[in-house]
Amino acid sequence: MFPEPLRRVIQLLSRFPGVGEKTAQRFALYLLTEPKFAEQLSQELAHLNQKVRPCDQCGNLAEVEAHGALCRVCADPKRDRSVLCVVARIADLLAIERSGAMRGTYFVLGRLLSPLDGIGPDELPMARLLRLIEHNAAHEIILATPPSVDGEATALFLARELAARGLSVTRIASGVPHGGDLEFADQITLGRAIDGRRRVD
Ligand code: ZN
Repeated sequence: MFPEPLRRVIQLLSRFPGVGEKTAQRFALYLLTEPKFAEQLSQELAHLNQKVRPCDQCGNLAEVEAHGALCRVCADPKRDRSVLCVVARIADLLAIERSGAMRGTYFVLGRLLSPLDGIGPDELPMARLLRLIEHNAAHEIILATPPSVDGEATALFLARELAARGLSVTRIASGVPHGGDLEFADQITLGRAIDGRRRVD
């Protein structure tokens, strides 16, 4: 029904999460009617991966500069570097930032332990985490992995590893529903979960 180049664009657009075939068609037809917008979009997309990459220190999104890539949190001299909050994903970091309850810095694991999916401790970025803890001279590590089976398993593992190194380890309080995503917790709940964190021994 559509010319081949347009069909390919529709197929690509329909790969976005939550975008179905019909929406993809609508987007594609809009791009055809707005050639300037389409060109600007394609230019930005073409260089996005060179301009934005994970922060060299924490894994958050960062703009690439001549000297490397530091995110806005790590580049902010006013953040409390003695407190480091470990999260599973960038979306969780952003959710905690929105709550305004965290004055420390972060570390994004990128994945959780998952025995069922065959993801073991060796696949966690422990070396990078320990390097950042040392670099920041952090002494409180807040474990803010989600309250799911994998999130709890990861928190337990990290608590053991970090406590063995003499660090003070805390876990965010419950309040975030079990199995729930930090990303979708409201700001007040998330703020309370951070404020109510408890020492893990
Ligand atoms: Zn960072």
